[in-house]
Formats: sequence, structure tokens, C-alpha cells
Amino acid sequence: MINHEIKIKFEEYITLTDLNEADRALCAEAVTALNGSHSPYSRFSVGAALRLQSGKIIYGSNQENVAYPSGLCAERVALFHWGANHANDPIESIAITAHTDEFKLSQPVTPCGSCLQVMAEYEKKQEQKMRILLFVEDGPIWAVEGSESFLPFLFFEERLAQS
Ligand SMILES: [Zn+2]
Repeated sequence: MINHEIKIKFEEYITLTDLNEADRALCAEAVTALNGSHSPYSRFSVGAALRLQSGKIIYGSNQENVAYPSGLCAERVALFHWGANHANDPIESIAITAHTDEFKLSQPVTPCGSCLQVMAEYEKKQEQKMRILLFVEDGPIWAVEGSESFLPFLFFEERLAQS
């Protein structure tokens, strides 16, 4: 038996003012994206903003439905919009934030496994990693380069090939 250990790297910033201008601007766009959230059931809003290579910003927000499984996370709302409409304009960064009036969020909210899988697929498609920025109003900002930091054992079709 062999024990293995995987380490991930991420950056932490204390406040938004510690970010560079481009990252800070994208975080502000993610806050704007919160406005589109349709979350009457969870009362938990999530906003995502993509910055494309051209500078274009794409918003996503969580969309819930009375038929519960019909909803979708903010990240995938933004990513699938990109895939359907702007796939020739690579995604440089995604900023994700969350807000609820029910309790105070003190740490960034991390994407779910399904959203990470979609990010990974599009990183591969565009042959470029995305910078992922996670933050909440009164907490630190976490930044990682590429979804693989969160999903080191990512499911890719190459892993299905016989060696
Ligand atoms: Zn998700």
C-alpha cells in the first residue's frame, strides 16, 4: 500500500481592495449578478460573473423552481450561456459570490462538484484555465488558477482509456 497526498494552492486576500483592478472589477460584477437570482425557496442568492478575453462580462445567478430539480446553480447558468453564445471568446476569470438575509456568510461559498466539472470541461475546450475568485461581503477572497485545484481527480475521458 502506498499513501499519497495531494496539496492545492490558493490565494487569500483580506479585502476586495487588496485585489488587482481587474479582479476587483469582476467581483463587483458578480455582486451585480446577484440581482438576477431567482431563489424564493432557499433565500440564498448566488451570483457569478465571467470575464471573457474580449472584456465582455457574462452574468449568471441561481435559478430555483417550484419543481425543485428544475433549478440550476449560478455558475452553470453563466457557463452554459457562454458555451451557447460566446464559446470563441475564452473565459479568463469567473467571480462567484453569495448573499442571504437569513444569516451572515463569513467565508466564500465554493462551487458544487457539478459546476466544477463544467468549468473543467470548458477549460479543456478553450485550452486555457480560468482564474476563479470566490468571495462574500464580509469575508476573505479566495483565488485559484483553474478548476483542477478543487477537483484533482477530475473525470476526463482520457481516464477511461486503456493504458
Ligand atoms: Zn453548482
